[in-house]
Amino acid sequence: TKDDVKSYLMRNAFVLFTVVAVILGVILGFSLRSYKMSYREVKYFSFPGELLMRMLQMLVLPLIVSSLVTGIAALDSKASGKMGVRAVVYYMSTTIIAVLIGIIIVVIIHPGKGTKENMHREGKIVQVTAADAFLDLIRNMFPPNLVEACFKQFKTNYEKRKFKVAIPSNDTSAMTSIISNVSEAMEALTRMKEEIVPVPGSVNGVNALGLVVFSISFGLVIGSMREQGQALKDFFDSLNEAIMRLVALIMWYAPLGILFLIAGKIVEMEDMGVIGGQLAMYTVTVIIGLLIHAVIVLPLLYFVITRKNPWVFIGGLIQALVTALGTSSSSATLPVTFKCLEEINGVDKRVTRFVLPVGATINMDGTALYEALAAIFIAQVNNFELNFGQIITISITATAASIGAAGIPQAGLVTMVIVLTSVGLPTDDITLIIAVDWFLDRLRTTTNVLGDSIGAGIVEHLSRHELKNRDAEMGNSVIEE
Ligand code: ASP
Repeated sequence: TKDDVKSYLMRNAFVLFTVVAVILGVILGFSLRSYKMSYREVKYFSFPGELLMRMLQMLVLPLIVSSLVTGIAALDSKASGKMGVRAVVYYMSTTIIAVLIGIIIVVIIHPGKGTKENMHREGKIVQVTAADAFLDLIRNMFPPNLVEACFKQFKTNYEKRKFKVAIPSNDTSAMTSIISNVSEAMEALTRMKEEIVPVPGSVNGVNALGLVVFSISFGLVIGSMREQGQALKDFFDSLNEAIMRLVALIMWYAPLGILFLIAGKIVEMEDMGVIGGQLAMYTVTVIIGLLIHAVIVLPLLYFVITRKNPWVFIGGLIQALVTALGTSSSSATLPVTFKCLEEINGVDKRVTRFVLPVGATINMDGTALYEALAAIFIAQVNNFELNFGQIITISITATAASIGAAGIPQAGLVTMVIVLTSVGLPTDDITLIIAVDWFLDRLRTTTNVLGDSIGAGIVEHLSRHELKNRDAEMGNSVIEE
């Protein structure tokens, strides 16, 4: 019909805008690089991108709560229990596969050469034990104060990442460059103070894990209350609907925001000259690992389980994937992921509302792969022979670290500390890989979002009988209004 044609065109126009935005962002970024912008100028330049980040983040909290509560309340406890088990089995198995890929690929390619003398370092990292981090994760599942859980959480025993100011050492005019770098240094200091390192399981520094656990329990209870729970169910349903409409508005702005996010990052990134041989090999290894997981394993899994074409499904996710690439944050991408899955791929809302918020908080295949790979790379650089037991320890802690990592930029770098400490590797060596992390972060975030989305497709397929039964029971009217 005419409406179908219209919505088809609209949808494709959006996808087109988004892809064009990425291309323009890259071109603009590279062409402005020669004009060496100061930190402040970069900040001004990327302002439209920063706004997109903020708009998306603004919606994440109400979106997580309302979608989880309504998603779970819309099912009976047996159906949501089954769906929960399927989702968790999917999360765990894909995370473990990702970790294994990371380990195998880094052992085969062996990017670390047993020397770190000529490698570039940035900043310093402070120790935190695996046990502390694990207890923190569990602790955060039960926030003593729900309102407080919505505020930024501080954690002091994680070191704030330090930024160095680049002063060319072999430059004869070093003095002048030091003087002209003073203002840059001040700016870098301000930036350092702004850097807030999140607690495990947090989103935007907010305790998302705690809110997820609460919302799931709340949804279960409301679902079991029948008439008495109806008012709350209606409230959260309508809240969720309103948030999704806001998302639709933001989507109009998204391409512009993404353009500036990408261009801004390219303008500000360090010269690639700094990246030595080992680090370059490491980067390539991570990219190969992520590609194997995202382009082979996940699509194959989707095909084997659902017998549907994975590429059509992934095609529907382009906007979410590009947003992940642009924002480096799977939680900021969450609103867009919802839109793509529900409106383009037509995944049942009872599934997305449940699987996506939980996935964005705990399921991070890309991060898990990267953590294991990076830890072994650091072992290689240190000439540290890992025995089988230590490799197993790395797989377990990398899985835990990916669960604990917040869906925000470079959170995986912070939780790396847990993996390294568990096998006695020097945590300071994280600084060896900081230089390329902003880039790898974008790729692993995209893999994370893909993993969550494919999970929604698979869980929907596996839960189709329960969903159908529920529809028959409710006279098919509740959710699909
Ligand atoms: N930035 C990633 C995400 O949001 C987490 C990470 O640093 O690995 O999914």
